Amino acid sequence: MTRTETPAIRRELGVWDCGAAGPTLCVLAGIHGNEPAGVQAVLRVLERLRDQAVPLVGRVVAFGGNLSALARGVRFLQRDLNRQWGEPHIVRMLERDPTEDGDEDYEQRALLAAFERVIQTARGPVVFVDLHTSSADGPPFLCLADTIDNRRVALSTGVPLILGIEETIDGASLEWWSQRGVVNFAVEGGRHQHPETVGNHEAVLWLLLDSLGMAPKGKLDLRPFREQIERSTRGQPSVVEIVHRHAISEQDRYVTKPGYKNFDFVRRGQQIGTDARGPVNAPYDCRVMLPLYQALGDDAFFLARDINPFWLTVARLLRWLRLHRLVGWMPGVRHDPDDMHTILVDPRIARWFVTEVFHLLGFRKERKRGKLLAFTRRWSRRENARLAR
Ligand SMILES: [Zn+2]
Repeated sequence: MTRTETPAIRRELGVWDCGAAGPTLCVLAGIHGNEPAGVQAVLRVLERLRDQAVPLVGRVVAFGGNLSALARGVRFLQRDLNRQWGEPHIVRMLERDPTEDGDEDYEQRALLAAFERVIQTARGPVVFVDLHTSSADGPPFLCLADTIDNRRVALSTGVPLILGIEETIDGASLEWWSQRGVVNFAVEGGRHQHPETVGNHEAVLWLLLDSLGMAPKGKLDLRPFREQIERSTRGQPSVVEIVHRHAISEQDRYVTKPGYKNFDFVRRGQQIGTDARGPVNAPYDCRVMLPLYQALGDDAFFLARDINPFWLTVARLLRWLRLHRLVGWMPGVRHDPDDMHTILVDPRIARWFVTEVFHLLGFRKERKRGKLLAFTRRWSRRENARLAR
């Protein structure tokens, strides 16, 4: 593969570290090159930390994602940099000669080295945040793998959470951090060019520094940031769960009907878009998430439903009781001998155990393995339990 010339934007957007041991907040911005709002937001935060010499506990480290795509204002040049963070792809890439790298391989190799360094030099738990924007309008929201620590830290920002996207998309950057047991989530700040989007990202970062106990108490005026989040998320549910992903390829020639915003309600049968075969309708009553309004992308839209806070409490209780250890006693269900975070389900025997039970216990990533279904749960390092308490 050939590589286009590398632009002059720096990989490391900045570091703020006053030497006090504590959490590391690692921020990635612009892994999609048409989403520069996150870069602007994290630069603003770093500038204020520096200008006011804020005595932070722990450190903030920020990286630019797809630098060559950012320089051209496009999502990516050769491949989506936010799709190949799974272990098999990374192993293959690292075994290959770097001179054969395409544009995104080059970016990923540099980011991998940077991420490894963050983990090696941490003097406390790490929290990874990936800043995105979307082609549709709507309030900001967070996407995360379903661990109790991820949920608690993410909820502390006051921004609505979406469960189930991380597990649906293979190879997002979050996957790399989840596999290492690090607390992580993606922030969708709003529409790419919307005037509030940079402010939403900035507000999430400040509120996170506060809830993680990194910002000095009472020294910073965080009211404007709280007000910004309240304003931009008013009337939205606090947690929704993805129930459907409408994947597309170029041949589908899919187009979303104009006017859909994130979190919009649709009725069963309501038209969401059109593809080569005709209208694409909602299969049931639900909310539309991430409707595609740009040329590049392999997800047309996601469908979600609200989660009653009662079930969040039930899930927390079940996992606190470590009930996942008992699922191996259910008929047709056994633990994967090679991976303690995966259960193997024989759908012919275990069809009574609806996937909801597995979801409650955190087993959300579903794959076929021969005649069996494999459900994998994300794990979380023990030190994460101290975060955002
Ligand atoms: Zn993105």
